[in-house]
Amino acid sequence: MCCESKKRFLLLYATQKGQAKAIAEEIWQQAGAHGLEADMHCISEMDKYNLETEKDPVVIVISTTGTGDPPDTARKFVKKIQDKTLPPDHFAHLQYGLLGLGDSEYMFFCNGGRTVDRRLQELGAQHFYDTGLADDCVGLELVVDPWIDGLWLALKEALQLQKEKEGMNSAVDAVSSSLSPAPHAVLELKLSSEVQNLKLEDEGARGSDVLSQKLDDINLVASARDTEPSLVRSVPPVSQSALNIPALPPEYIEVQFQDTQGENPHLSSLISEATTFEVPVTKAVQLTREDAIKTALLLELDISDTAFDYQPGDAFCVICPNNVNEVEELLHILGLSEKRDDFVCVKVKQGTKKKGASRPQYIPERSTLKFILTWCLEIRAIPKKAFLRALVECTSDAGEKRRLQELCSRQGASDYTRFIRDSNVCLLDLLRVFPSCRPSLSLLIEHLPKLQARSYSVSSSNLYQPGRLCFVFNVVEFPAGPSRPVSRRGVCTGWLAELVAPLLHSSKNTLDTKGESSATEKISIFPRPNNAFRLPADPSVPFIMVGPGTGISPFIGFLQHRQKLREQHTDWEFGETWLFFGCRHQDRDYLFKQVHYLTSILCFLENGTLTHLKVCFSRDSSTAEVAPPKYVQDVLRLCAKEVARVLLKERGYFYICGDKKHMADDVSDAIVDILSMEMEADRLEAMKILAMLREAKRYLQDVWS
Ligand code: FAD
Repeated sequence: MCCESKKRFLLLYATQKGQAKAIAEEIWQQAGAHGLEADMHCISEMDKYNLETEKDPVVIVISTTGTGDPPDTARKFVKKIQDKTLPPDHFAHLQYGLLGLGDSEYMFFCNGGRTVDRRLQELGAQHFYDTGLADDCVGLELVVDPWIDGLWLALKEALQLQKEKEGMNSAVDAVSSSLSPAPHAVLELKLSSEVQNLKLEDEGARGSDVLSQKLDDINLVASARDTEPSLVRSVPPVSQSALNIPALPPEYIEVQFQDTQGENPHLSSLISEATTFEVPVTKAVQLTREDAIKTALLLELDISDTAFDYQPGDAFCVICPNNVNEVEELLHILGLSEKRDDFVCVKVKQGTKKKGASRPQYIPERSTLKFILTWCLEIRAIPKKAFLRALVECTSDAGEKRRLQELCSRQGASDYTRFIRDSNVCLLDLLRVFPSCRPSLSLLIEHLPKLQARSYSVSSSNLYQPGRLCFVFNVVEFPAGPSRPVSRRGVCTGWLAELVAPLLHSSKNTLDTKGESSATEKISIFPRPNNAFRLPADPSVPFIMVGPGTGISPFIGFLQHRQKLREQHTDWEFGETWLFFGCRHQDRDYLFKQVHYLTSILCFLENGTLTHLKVCFSRDSSTAEVAPPKYVQDVLRLCAKEVARVLLKERGYFYICGDKKHMADDVSDAIVDILSMEMEADRLEAMKILAMLREAKRYLQDVWS
């Protein structure tokens, strides 16, 4: 028993959308084959583990959410370890390895993991294994897979060290013998219990040919040449390799179809993080011309009959359904069209091997099949390798089976990245091109993530428009491609665009009263406050706003608020306000230029609420001798002296908002150049000043992608 307990390690995961949990579960599963036992818990279950007394190695898998925050499930934990009264040797007894998950498209990459890592170090904890930071932007697996491969040797060494410390050397050999012998061997590990080594069999090869032929016939393979791989076709060496495929995830969900009697749960029951409000859409305005590259819409919601409250700078979330046609198509492919209105009872499968299996919180215990596919599951999610692995078991055609195995295998990693991940392929795309694949509803519930509500920045002020909330979004368009025969719109923006289409049509040719409605369409929303992104508390402090494209949205709220304050407090002193805006074409996508019922930036400029407006157009041609600036960072550089004055002499604020992280990086670079030039200091010094501005919360970013 003593030896058994020495092979234990503590495995904690902090997950937002389920990825960290899924990775922890993979580690948990693999551990057994390495002679180890993972004691796995969600980091929020603080009554089930105790780091203060933990002697065994600890493995932490933690994701990042929002603007670099740890996931909600880690909040209590982070608060606890950030207690400033903890001594620097508080965790001196602790050995740990940490895997952070993030997306480099967002600000503060992997900050959830970094924050915990930094703090554990400050409190004296030791790494037994280097921290891994996995980037969802390029594929988590690029870091996750080798990190897990190397974990076992590091754990072995950590356990050995621990035993030596405890003077129990005699037990070490037993542990060592059940673990891989050398570092290089670890990477080569192929354990029969979890990794199936598949040889390419004649039957499989024939199947591949048959499959390719079939798909060529129905015109789904983009490549004209047989030597080119595609979603459904592989070429050597992948097509001829023995494959290392992941272990089959244990089934854990059971569904029972019932009658059609009853009512579906209210949408608010799907949201645990905040109170939801159902509010009418009262206006819809298209802010871009028909020939603009992207369509931007402004929607106004009536929140007057609700307790919903917000400040300019806040965001909020929209609960959105999946596309109705896609739900119908999925029902059809699953052979469940007839049962769409049947109530489904979802339970954990008796005797499942999945550790800690529970019904996902976002799936009601009882609701109709259509409700689950419409409101609960992200059916557009890019299928993870574990899902592909499970789909292999529901595929009857040998060639299709083989290709699915390839796509989830180590050998097919780059095909997975190219044909699934980078092509934004979803379940429906797969089911179309692998027609013999017929997954069950329970499998979809096990593998599809929660349909997330989408966040939007508020584009109004409750002072200026009491009882109203506005927001602006680009309708996301995915063009058709080799892996996807049909073009699509974003889940939420596509749905909203369709929902408000009648409002937009009825408003054609009327400029000032666009999109008025008798408010029949309602949407469900809940708050997502951003306490950092606020107007300066002191109105006399100047501020600079940089918001290209839809990034202008929160600044309209700021300006509305400021205008109202100026009207209400004529004796107050107000600081300068600068707005740097950029778009592609002056005539097509210059948002808020015209008088869109209440709000126009030119009006703000005219009445002095906005003191400086700087605009640039990246795609307009110019006949001027000196080419005009194209991007906001170019215009900032032209205003270097003023920007430096506002930031350094007048202790002003600087705000950036937009949908591209690289824009925010380019703007930061420009600011470093400006500071360095105006202070006659080197870049390092300027970077320190910028870091200080960030620290003082005078340089604020609200960037999404
Ligand atoms: P989805 O169906 O979720 O599709 C978007 C996904 O598809 C992305 O994951 C992207 O990687 C991928 N994708 C995008 N384009 C393509 C393409 N051409 N081909 C293939 N794949 C592609 N958005 C706004 O418009 N206005 C705002 O004010 C705003 N504020 C936000 C504030 C916060 C705090 C956050 C986190 C996000 C904000 N967003 C805002 C983004 C918004 O939440 C949504 O992500 C966006 O509207 C797209 O949602 P969707 O459901 O329509 O798209």
